[in-house]
Amino acid sequence: MIGKLRVVNSLTREKEVFEPLNPPHVGMYVCGPTVYSDVHLGNVRTFMSFDVIYRYLQFLGYKVRYVRNITDVGHLSDTGEDKISKKAKLESLEPMEIVQKYTNDFHQVMHTFNLLPPDIEPTATGHLMEQMEMIQELVDNGYAYESNGSVYFDINQFSDKFEYGKLSGRKTEDMLNQTRELDGGSDKRNPLDFALWKKAAPEHIMRWNTKWSDGFPGWHLECSVMSTKYLGEEFDIHGGGMDLKFPHHECEIAQNAGSKGKDGAKYWMHTNMLTVNGTKMSKSLGNSFLPHQLISGDHELLERGFSPMTIRFFMLQSHYASTLDFSNEALNAAQKGYMKLANGLRLIKSYEYPAGGQEDINQKQADQINKICDNCHHAMNDDFNTALAIGHLFNLVKKVNSIQAGQLKLEEIGQETFDRMKTTFISFAEDILGLRLESEISSQNLLDVILEEYKSAKEAKNYDKVDELRAKLKSEGVIVKDMKTGIDWAFEES
Ligand code: AMP
Ligand code: ZN
Repeated sequence: MIGKLRVVNSLTREKEVFEPLNPPHVGMYVCGPTVYSDVHLGNVRTFMSFDVIYRYLQFLGYKVRYVRNITDVGHLSDTGEDKISKKAKLESLEPMEIVQKYTNDFHQVMHTFNLLPPDIEPTATGHLMEQMEMIQELVDNGYAYESNGSVYFDINQFSDKFEYGKLSGRKTEDMLNQTRELDGGSDKRNPLDFALWKKAAPEHIMRWNTKWSDGFPGWHLECSVMSTKYLGEEFDIHGGGMDLKFPHHECEIAQNAGSKGKDGAKYWMHTNMLTVNGTKMSKSLGNSFLPHQLISGDHELLERGFSPMTIRFFMLQSHYASTLDFSNEALNAAQKGYMKLANGLRLIKSYEYPAGGQEDINQKQADQINKICDNCHHAMNDDFNTALAIGHLFNLVKKVNSIQAGQLKLEEIGQETFDRMKTTFISFAEDILGLRLESEISSQNLLDVILEEYKSAKEAKNYDKVDELRAKLKSEGVIVKDMKTGIDWAFEES
């Protein structure tokens, strides 16, 4: 392993050396989607960031158990209606039909962008018994109370022993001053108390009969329950978008501490937002793109469509903790960047070290290549800095291009450096960043025949034919390159 992994912990606000609680095992929980509508690109950015984190931890040799839930009950809209129930009524479907439909769509989108599936994908409705158990624990410990069939978390009692607000850095007095309205009206003892169980109004469809009432669980509860059930009372990483810090994750910590005496996760990690002209991409603001719109280009803000790997590259070109602003220019630049990387990747995959080579090693070149490989590791070790890692991969692309142009010979760098360069390039691009080659040339043989024809036309100085063949290949996204070393080709980069 090269250097130590450091992660920024939202709880301590420090960059800390990553030390798992039970190595080589790592438990990671990420809040998943509420499956009442299509996922938009903002959501994709958050899940992609954790996909790379999952991939890198595995690359480092950890045995990761990655849990990402599906919220299928309890997430209320601004008007206090369950988001899934509301959609089910609107579409005259069973709530579980809505859940299934959008879960399927979500999986499809994750697959399109080459995100690995989690190891466990639990649902809130599949864990109602466990949620009721945690509510009971909280009541028994004096941190929750029943009121008119609903059960609320008791912030006053909790604050006697613990600190509510430590993740988001909020003070209860300030929160109280900012709270104008009581959600649930007079049922609550304190406006900051949040629902663990809600008594269902007569029109509410999703409901379960418990000793408290015919009702449904509060949204924050499922994540406390499912993370600790599958990863233990203390586990390594808990993640989600920044907008979940408060109240969702703050309430989770309170529930964990109130029931188990522990905060749950050791490292809390939050991704920053995908924005459009500086405003958070969000369904409710009407500035969200659906993945298929971006791929097809069918959206008024888009000049054209972009491939899934271009979009993946675009997202990973910024660090997960920075905001990323969406624009046509940025995507056009990402397309060029991705194609450049893809060309380097294709070339390095095709190179084999020549048998019997390795006489006069150019130590300067070998050192440079080894340094670039080290830098790829350092970048990812620095709080998963994908932006920097991509920058270093481009330096490897330059070396690969020099090899292709005959300016640098494979023999010059030696077998060991060549092997390291090849494995570093492939593992960082494909295994860690999850960028795969998209443009498959439909028939390599056919390409070889056309290139042979091109070569003959050039030798015969038949320039009309040369131009015609170039144009033909260009229309297939292939650029012919006349190198000192002979004729080669590359995917078009713009
Ligand atoms: P939701 O389905 O709304 O609960 O969101 C699923 C995940 O996407 C959560 O972790 C959110 O924090 C995250 N998310 C929502 N909007 C954005 C955005 N514009 N950029 C990045 N992540 C987002
Ligand atoms: Zn959650």
